[in-house]
Amino acid sequence: MTTPCIISVAITGSVPSKKDNQAVPITAAEQVESTQQAFEAGATLVHLHVRNEDGTTSSDPGRFARVQEGLRQHCPGIIIQFSTGGRSGTGHERGAMLSLRPDMASLATGSCNFPTRVYENSPDLVDWLAAEMIKYDVKPEAEAFDLSMIFQAAKMAQDGRIRGPLHVQFVMGVKNAMPVDRESFEFYIRTLQRLAPDATWTGAGIASGQLKLAHWSLELGGHCRTGFEDNIRLNKDQLAPSNAALVEQVVALCPNYGRHPASVAEARQLLSLPPPV
Ligand code: ZN
Repeated sequence: MTTPCIISVAITGSVPSKKDNQAVPITAAEQVESTQQAFEAGATLVHLHVRNEDGTTSSDPGRFARVQEGLRQHCPGIIIQFSTGGRSGTGHERGAMLSLRPDMASLATGSCNFPTRVYENSPDLVDWLAAEMIKYDVKPEAEAFDLSMIFQAAKMAQDGRIRGPLHVQFVMGVKNAMPVDRESFEFYIRTLQRLAPDATWTGAGIASGQLKLAHWSLELGGHCRTGFEDNIRLNKDQLAPSNAALVEQVVALCPNYGRHPASVAEARQLLSLPPPV
């Protein structure tokens, strides 16, 4: 019996746009369809941002609700994770959709530089978002863009601001933040295991780092994230035709590392979420 790998698919971020890759899903219907294909290919967790009609990022809870409803219908049991990232509005807007009670939501536990701006997550805002997640029974995925954010996540789990067991995503390859670096990645894992022995983790790499982190995460016992939010290409010469095609790439790697894609039931058990209804 091999250790299951939860494959997360981040179907749409704030970038890229249709200009970059026609297959990036923008409308609610496109997002549901793209997720369903990814789900059928082996993804069991969807990370979600929503967009306005004109393609700009939206923080409208109504839009999150529409997509969530479609996903529950077409992807039974899939773990639905909303983004509370800075691209989905400012201040408390970023958590306005948590009352919809998705299974999970992302929670960056500190600030860093992004390609063209500061990704600002003030201590007050992080605590407020974490408290809203407890209020609505939403499991956080702590987003670690550097080492300090791992320490902060572990501290929050220890003092009860995050209900355990902790799940952390290591993000590498964002321009001006932490690059894709093997030694740092291994140190992240060791540090998390030392601070929060019951924690689970996912590796998320940007652009060509996506596939690299999938290899490393499978090798080192973690879970994988793929999808258009982080990368639009299958390789340097070829655009990905769909989110599902990116998921299939990860699925194909699993056996090389003695892993298999988690089923919905396995993914929920690994993350201590309720079984699929
Ligand atoms: Zn995101």
